[in-house]
Amino acid sequence: MHFELDEQQTMIRDMVRDYARAELAPKAKWRDETSAFPEAEYRKMAELGLLGMNISEELGGSAVGVVAYSAAVTEIARADASVAVGMSVTNMVAEIVAAFAEPQVARRYVPTITSGEAVAGAFALTEPSSGSDAGSLRTTAVRDGDHWVLNGVKQFISSADHAGVLVVWARTAREAKGTMGVSAFVVPKDAPGLVLGKKEDKMGLRGSSTLEVVFEDCRIPADHLLGEEGRGFRIAMAALDGGRIGVASQALGIGLAALDEARDYALQRRQFGRPIADFQAIQWKLADMATELDAARLLIMQAAWLKEHKQPFTRQASMAKLFTTETANRVCGEAIQIHGGYGYVKEYPVERYYRDVRVTTIYEGTSEVQRMVIARHALGERG
Ligand SMILES: Cc1cc2nc3c(=O)[nH]c(=O)nc-3n(C[C@H](O)[C@H](O)[C@H](O)COP(=O)(O)OP(=O)(O)OC[C@H]3O[C@@H](n4cnc5c(N)ncnc54)[C@H](O)[C@@H]3O)c2cc1C
Repeated sequence: MHFELDEQQTMIRDMVRDYARAELAPKAKWRDETSAFPEAEYRKMAELGLLGMNISEELGGSAVGVVAYSAAVTEIARADASVAVGMSVTNMVAEIVAAFAEPQVARRYVPTITSGEAVAGAFALTEPSSGSDAGSLRTTAVRDGDHWVLNGVKQFISSADHAGVLVVWARTAREAKGTMGVSAFVVPKDAPGLVLGKKEDKMGLRGSSTLEVVFEDCRIPADHLLGEEGRGFRIAMAALDGGRIGVASQALGIGLAALDEARDYALQRRQFGRPIADFQAIQWKLADMATELDAARLLIMQAAWLKEHKQPFTRQASMAKLFTTETANRVCGEAIQIHGGYGYVKEYPVERYYRDVRVTTIYEGTSEVQRMVIARHALGERG
C-alpha cells in the first residue's frame, strides 16, 4: 500500500503549486476586495490542462486522473480558494457532458471547456425552494418538436455569468414526484431565454461569482438532453459524489494555507520575551491542525483513488467532504486564534481564509446531508 503520489501526480502537483504561488496568490487579496472574476486565469488553467483533468485527450482533456485532480485543486485553493471552486465545478461539468451527452454534443461542448474557450462550466441544480432536497426542483422542460423548452429559476449558480456551458436539471414529467421525472440538459450560455439574475454579495470566495439563473421559455435542441429522459437525478447525484472530492480538496488547501500562516506567525510573534511558538498551548494547536489536515488528506486520497479505479466511492467521498470541511473550518479558526487580534483584521490572510472556508460545509451537500449519506451506508452495512 502506497500513501504517496506517484511520479506523474507529484509532477502535476508541483507544477500547479508553482503556478498558483506565482500567479494566483499575489492577486488573491485583490480579487477578494474587488470581486473580480479571474477569466484570464481560467484560460491559463486550461492551457495547463487543469479544466478537463478526467477527460480523454480526444475531447481535449489531460486525463491525468482523480488523485492528480484532487492534488491540483488543493494547490489552487491554497493560493486562492475563489479560483478553486470554479475550477472544480468546471471539471465536474466537463465530466458530465463527456459521460452523458450524445457523441456529437460532447464533441461540440467539451473541447470548448477544456480549451478555456468557454471560460468555465456551471452546474445548475439548486433552486430557491430546493437545496438539500434537490429532488423537489420545480424547473420544467417540455418537449416542443426538435427542442426542449425550459422554464424556472436556479439559485446560487457558481460562475454562471462567465460560463459558456451550463448543465441544468429540470422536471420533464409533470405527474412524477420527487426525483423521478427529472432530466439533465446541456445548455449553452447564448441559448435564447437564458437570463442571468441577481448576483450574490457573499461573505467569502468573493473572486468567484454566484448567481441566480432564470429560464424564460429557454429553447435548446432536443439532442441536448443528457442521458435518458427522466433519469437525470442519478446524473446529479453521481456528479456530486465526484464534486465532493473537489470541495474536500478545496477545503484542505485553505486549511493548509491557514496552517502555513499560523506557523510563520507563531515563530515571529514575541510575547513574554519569546516567540509564541515556544508556548506549549500554541504548539499543541499547531500539532492538532497538522494531524487533522493529514487525516483529511488521507480520506480525500482514498475517495479519489476509488473513483479513479472505477470502484464505488460515494461513502468515502461524503466522509472526506464532511471531515475535511469541518476540520478546515476549525483549523482556520485556530489560525486566527494564534494570530490574536491581528487575525481579525484584513492585513493578514487568515481573516480571508476564515470567510472562504465557511461555505465548504454548506455547498455540494451540507455536513448534515453528508451524515445522511454516511448513515445510510452504515445502517445498510449492519444489515
Ligand atoms: C457560494 C455558493 C455556491 C454555490 N454553488 C452552487 C452551484 O454552482 N450549483 C448549484 O446547484 N448549487 C450551488 N450552491 C447551492 C448549495 O449547494 C446549497 O446552498 C446547499 O446544497 C444547501 O441548500 P440550501 O442553501 O437550500 O439549504 P437548505 O437545504 O434549506 O438547508 C438549511 C439547513 O437545514 C439543514 N437540513 C436540510 N434538510 C435536512 C435534513 N433532512 N436533515 C437534517 N438537516 C437538514 C441543512 O443541512 C442546513 O443546515 C451554492 C451555494 C453557495 C452558498
